[in-house]
Amino acid sequence: MAANGDGFSEVSMEDLMGQVEKRQISTIVFIIAMQKEAQLMINRFRLVKDINSPFPKEVTWVLFNGMYKDLNISIVCPGKDSTLGVDSVGTVPASLVTYASIVAMKPDLIINAGTAGGFKAKGASIADVYIVSSVAFHDRRIPVPGLDLYGVGMRKAFPTPNLIKDLNLKVGRLSTGDSMDMPPHDKESITANDATVKDMEGAAVVYVADIFKVPTILLKGVTDIVDGNRPTSEEFLENLAAVTAKLDESVAKVIDFINGKCLSDL
Ligand code: SAH
Repeated sequence: MAANGDGFSEVSMEDLMGQVEKRQISTIVFIIAMQKEAQLMINRFRLVKDINSPFPKEVTWVLFNGMYKDLNISIVCPGKDSTLGVDSVGTVPASLVTYASIVAMKPDLIINAGTAGGFKAKGASIADVYIVSSVAFHDRRIPVPGLDLYGVGMRKAFPTPNLIKDLNLKVGRLSTGDSMDMPPHDKESITANDATVKDMEGAAVVYVADIFKVPTILLKGVTDIVDGNRPTSEEFLENLAAVTAKLDESVAKVIDFINGKCLSDL
């Protein structure tokens, strides 16, 4: 900290960030697209559905919260589409719940946990759980200088070298788009993004969290092999339950590692 001519101390952004990062993490918000992906974690951490949720009465978003060890944990799911009754997957609901959760709960850390397609050419197998190093979009092609990069929207996840080492987690880049299939255009962009896993929410969650400078980590369990020979939706549905169980185990280890630590310890 340096003193200026008026005798006031000037706190640099770095000092401030340092102070924030040295405070013990206390509030964690999970953003999870499908309630099926979240249920084991809700049970494990004994979270309770918040019937007085801070969200507007019109939305379908569901909030579960509770204390686990020293952590105040919330899980937010976008809930069922009010017309079709299916999970509100994809970037639009994910952005909205991330925004509202940050405003309402001011988390120290966001964790986007869920399932993803994996590329065997990049080393992914069914039921692997990846911690994501960076995110980008693969279906926002804008061939105008400057806007092209905006469309790709590459952002780094919060770096967690100690967590990765301690838990021996696989690390890979994530590519996000609003479709579950992969037409040739998307394939090209995913290759350019150097992605190992592909989902429908991650880059949107990080986009919003980045606005508010909320550190975000992403954990993705592989339900289907995109460059394999099985139809994606069939493989996804077949593996969903088992992969959700693997994801829950990894989340449990990650939370136990985070408990009592500061951001800079991760
Ligand atoms: N039919 C399913 C919905 C699946 S949507 C149902 O309603 O039960 C797919 C969800 O899993 C999204 O939240 C997405 O993030 C993730 N996902 C899993 N495999 C994926 C893939 N190959 N491509 C894109 N998203 C995938």
